[in-house]
Amino acid sequence: MENRKALILLVFIVIGVLLGGFTGWYWGSAMTSVEWLGTLFLNALKMTIVPLIVSAVITGVASMGGTAKAGRYGGFTLIYYTTTTALAVFIGLVVVNIIRPGEGLAFDRAELPADIAEKAGTGISDIILSLVSPNLIKSASETQLLPIIVFSILLAMAVNAAGPKGEPVRAFFDGLNDAMMKIVEWIMYFAPIGIFGLIAARLGKAGGGEAFMAQIKGVGWHVVTVMTGLSIHFIVLFLILYFITGHGIRYYLGMFRALFTAFGTASSSATLPITMECALENGIGIKPVRFVLPLGSTVNMDGTALYEAAAVMFIAQAYGIEMGIGQQTIIFITATLAAIGAAGIPEAGLVTMVIVLQAVGLPLEGISLLLSVDWFLDRLRTSVNVWGDAVGAAVIDRLLPEES
Ligand code: ASP
Repeated sequence: MENRKALILLVFIVIGVLLGGFTGWYWGSAMTSVEWLGTLFLNALKMTIVPLIVSAVITGVASMGGTAKAGRYGGFTLIYYTTTTALAVFIGLVVVNIIRPGEGLAFDRAELPADIAEKAGTGISDIILSLVSPNLIKSASETQLLPIIVFSILLAMAVNAAGPKGEPVRAFFDGLNDAMMKIVEWIMYFAPIGIFGLIAARLGKAGGGEAFMAQIKGVGWHVVTVMTGLSIHFIVLFLILYFITGHGIRYYLGMFRALFTAFGTASSSATLPITMECALENGIGIKPVRFVLPLGSTVNMDGTALYEAAAVMFIAQAYGIEMGIGQQTIIFITATLAAIGAAGIPEAGLVTMVIVLQAVGLPLEGISLLLSVDWFLDRLRTSVNVWGDAVGAAVIDRLLPEES
């Protein structure tokens, strides 16, 4: 998309966000009638995800030339992602220890939703098991992207190993990827209306501005803690971007469409097509766009990791349970892993938080404290997740240029 068009689209998206916030705030539940506009946009994005990811990862990895090079590239990406995720958890823990949002909280416990209660036995081994799917079609239909990425990486390596016979396969997926990106560009023109629908209807569902403020009030310090942590991490990522790649505000503005879409959809996976489109427009190389971003949309969740650590500490404080340095180290490790295991879909972080709570022996019912505002904090952490991926792509593009 040329610059002028992209700028006009961005202006319309900002108008969509503001209008969605404004109408949802004042007209409350009446705005649920525009939910279908948001759903249409979300469905259109979801429609592209599987063919886009498969074709991107296969061509991205196949073009790395050889298993050793691909391994180096992949290994470096994973190390970078894990490091920034751990940094996010650290920031979350520092902020929650300073603000102490849960202390002295008088709370009513609500019912724990069934999908979270069901996960009571979830452990780290489940994250490892989720890498390999026995049924790729089922995984695709449930937007479980991690096993699809693992399969695509394997297929790409096999295509390379097949030599000249693999070439038509690679060329097919290359063409498919270009075609999918074209569809994404077309869908993007609908983004302002779609994002408007998503935000207006979600605020409407919360009962409008006043009801939303009342919900926030009960756990106000928790909201402040998470927002502070996310803002600090956002800036830290910006500094990493700036000092390693030299990219600055321009890159950030270039990513705005993706960040707003993340806020509107609360899903890094649904946002991925737009993140890829924005990164390409910002001059990021093909390999980071086709490999680092898809991988990041499912394993790199800085916002989620920060949120999980802060929320678990909040629950401990609310129950009056002191978490020493040993316990916080366990939170640090498990929150990093739980965020890696979380899917890029709305409120996935709440579900994998079970792992962290269980690791330090906290009651799972504590999650009920977070439910009323999670939809809102989810949107903020998803934007940080997407920003983390975007910065990652730029950093790896810079640090491994010969391979991009
Ligand atoms: N909604 C988040 C995402 O898609 C995951 C989460 O934190 O719940 O990135």
